[in-house]
Amino acid sequence: MRITAPAETAPGETRVALVPRSVTQLVSIGATVAIQAGAGTAAGITDAAYTEAGADVAPDRKTLLDGADIVVVVRRPELDLVGLMGRGSILVGVLEPAVDPKLVRALVDGGITAFRLEAMPRISRAQDMDVLSSMATLAGYHAAVMAAYRLPRIFPLMMTAAGTITPARALILGAGVAGLQAIATCRRLGAVVEAFDVRPAVRDQVESLGARFVETGVESETQQDTGGYARELEADAQTRQRQVLAEHVKEADVVISTALIPNRKAPVLVTADMVASMRTGSVIVDLAASGGGNCELTRPDEEVDSGGVTILGPTNLPAAIPGQASQLYSHNATRFLTQLIKDKQVQLDFEDVVISQTCITHDGKPMGEQIEALLQGAAS
Ligand code: NAD
Repeated sequence: MRITAPAETAPGETRVALVPRSVTQLVSIGATVAIQAGAGTAAGITDAAYTEAGADVAPDRKTLLDGADIVVVVRRPELDLVGLMGRGSILVGVLEPAVDPKLVRALVDGGITAFRLEAMPRISRAQDMDVLSSMATLAGYHAAVMAAYRLPRIFPLMMTAAGTITPARALILGAGVAGLQAIATCRRLGAVVEAFDVRPAVRDQVESLGARFVETGVESETQQDTGGYARELEADAQTRQRQVLAEHVKEADVVISTALIPNRKAPVLVTADMVASMRTGSVIVDLAASGGGNCELTRPDEEVDSGGVTILGPTNLPAAIPGQASQLYSHNATRFLTQLIKDKQVQLDFEDVVISQTCITHDGKPMGEQIEALLQGAAS
């Protein structure tokens, strides 16, 4: 069983799919592990550290993938990587098939079994394989630090001999995994924090972190689906929500928005008018930038200055913390790999939701209606 991790090639990506600790774990269950030379460099991991953990270091991608049974990646790979994989081999990573259906075609044609970790079911048993949660945790933290750094004032209350400085006000929109971490970090830095989510289930969590829950009147149990994710709001509810939020955005020094709805464009919660009402120097960090943004003026991975308000739309904050992001990602991926490997062999149990819900291609076929539709859409 040869498990491999190539160097990532997506622009700006600094993470690596397997860290040395995971190599040791995989070797202990009888696998051979190989890493592409330099794959860990941007994450602060040397080739020597991999060798010490028991991995082979392959000089290039072609050598690495020769005879690989399993290839673990962080981001959706380029098609040429799939071309180097053997029939019947396995690809594991954040594959986002909807972004590039050509990848699905290549996986089907190449007879590759592929698993997208971003579709991991949100059940207790799968928590330690949930890459969305682990990456969102880091992104939420980093968004708060980024906002604190860019804000031209300090976060905490300070009573000094020269006078009292009032605390900054932070508003967090969307209190899921990233939002809760942003709340906790802003609170630790001393800001006064308000937060809002359409799912009322999060109110207690928001309050337990010392933040105030903003009531807009649209939050209800029906806004949550069976997977714990939010549903899209009806148009009139969106209007009501914006009216209430406008008052809170106006008073905020920092807005961190994290509101996402699976497979939909991110809801616009902060309009251009709301931005215009904010004080000069205020900062918006829009973590929904890759989904279209929660702020009307967000541009992915760009910095926008709108009347003195700074709007940041980072799409890959975990890459700013590559060592720890790789550590968490690698742990998630390795836990998943151990579900696939029994007695040193790959044994796929499609009765297990962890396998069936993440698998997108197997045995030369697309798996599930969504992936079939993607392929048909790409062909037409
Ligand atoms: P997400 O990234 O899809 O969305 C972020 C947040 O934005 C969510 O809390 C959502 O309710 C909120 N949101 C969506 N539309 C909004 C709007 N119009 N206005 C305000 N807020 C809006 O979600 P996530 O953070 O990945 O996870 C959502 C929830 O899933 C978690 O809070 C948790 O309850 C559950 N979860 C369960 C597990 C598990 O059991 N294994 C793991 C992770 C998350």
